[in-house]
Amino acid sequence: MVEIRAYAAAAPGRCLEPMSHRIGEMGPDEVEINVSHCGICHSDLSMLDNDWGIAAYPFVPGHEIIGTVAAVGPQARGLKVGQRVGVGWSASSCLSCGECLSGRHHLCAHVQGTIVGRFGGFADRVRVQWTWARPLPEAVDPAKAGPLLCGGITVFTPLFEYDVSPTARVGVIGIGGLGHLALQFANKWGCEVHAFTSSEQKHSEARQLGAHFVHTTASPEGLKKLAGSLDLIISTINVPVDAPALLNVLAPRGRLHVVGAVLKPLEVPAFGLITGQKSVSGSPTGSPAAIDRMLAFCARHGIEPVTENYPMSQANEALERLRAGQARYRIVLESDWS
Ligand SMILES: [Zn+2]
Ligand SMILES: [Zn+2]
Repeated sequence: MVEIRAYAAAAPGRCLEPMSHRIGEMGPDEVEINVSHCGICHSDLSMLDNDWGIAAYPFVPGHEIIGTVAAVGPQARGLKVGQRVGVGWSASSCLSCGECLSGRHHLCAHVQGTIVGRFGGFADRVRVQWTWARPLPEAVDPAKAGPLLCGGITVFTPLFEYDVSPTARVGVIGIGGLGHLALQFANKWGCEVHAFTSSEQKHSEARQLGAHFVHTTASPEGLKKLAGSLDLIISTINVPVDAPALLNVLAPRGRLHVVGAVLKPLEVPAFGLITGQKSVSGSPTGSPAAIDRMLAFCARHGIEPVTENYPMSQANEALERLRAGQARYRIVLESDWS
């Protein structure tokens, strides 16, 4: 029996409080990780508030975990005790379905979320299936890396999955936790990068993060000028987008890709798709292999999340800052269990 200490909410929307619980023997394909850092993602808030109706209580948030491997089950592969790893949204998949066997484990029907029916990384340790604990390259700063494991891979996947060309023009809507990473990725990918933000204050920061052009989202005139020009638009925001206007901004065969978890339906006009053979798509996080590629890409190009770091004991304050929309751009908790 091992005792795990964590910060848990007893009911939807409640403050986190310290909790300890005993867990049994590790599964043969699991690894146990001593958590050093854990990023906070908007999905942690959605789960804490049970917005999606799938949270269980007590609820322990945290799915942007960085730590070191403390123990390895007999069937775990490729990991050693002491190795630094990261864990994102997924903690386990079946490894035997067509998607898993094709390397698309994140699309497995049996994939288990790190904070869905399990305790997440606002804790001193977590256990996950070895597949989902990805080795962190030396060149990536563990104090900043957590947000790459969920926010980062979410916006890296469309570039990776659709073989985006370095000559492509890529738009990123929303310069926040996800968008500020999408700008860096698209820039280093070699693309012409367009940032769309509703905040005038973020224009110069968006340029520093890699945008070649910055546009004000709410300006219909500005969007009209861009008609037929972008090959890919990644929408990272949590409010509905003006799909007809954005489809008009796309070049022929262009794609509007949605990663922001909006509950309202997206209104897509058929002729906006038909004319110019355009697509609307979406994706969740990414596969273990895609995470590895992303981490190597970050190491090579010096890409890192812009973070505000808090001790884990101040998780409630950090969550409130995220809830108020004040985080620039991602919050990371540092383990300070005594
Ligand atoms: Zn997330
Ligand atoms: Zn599977």
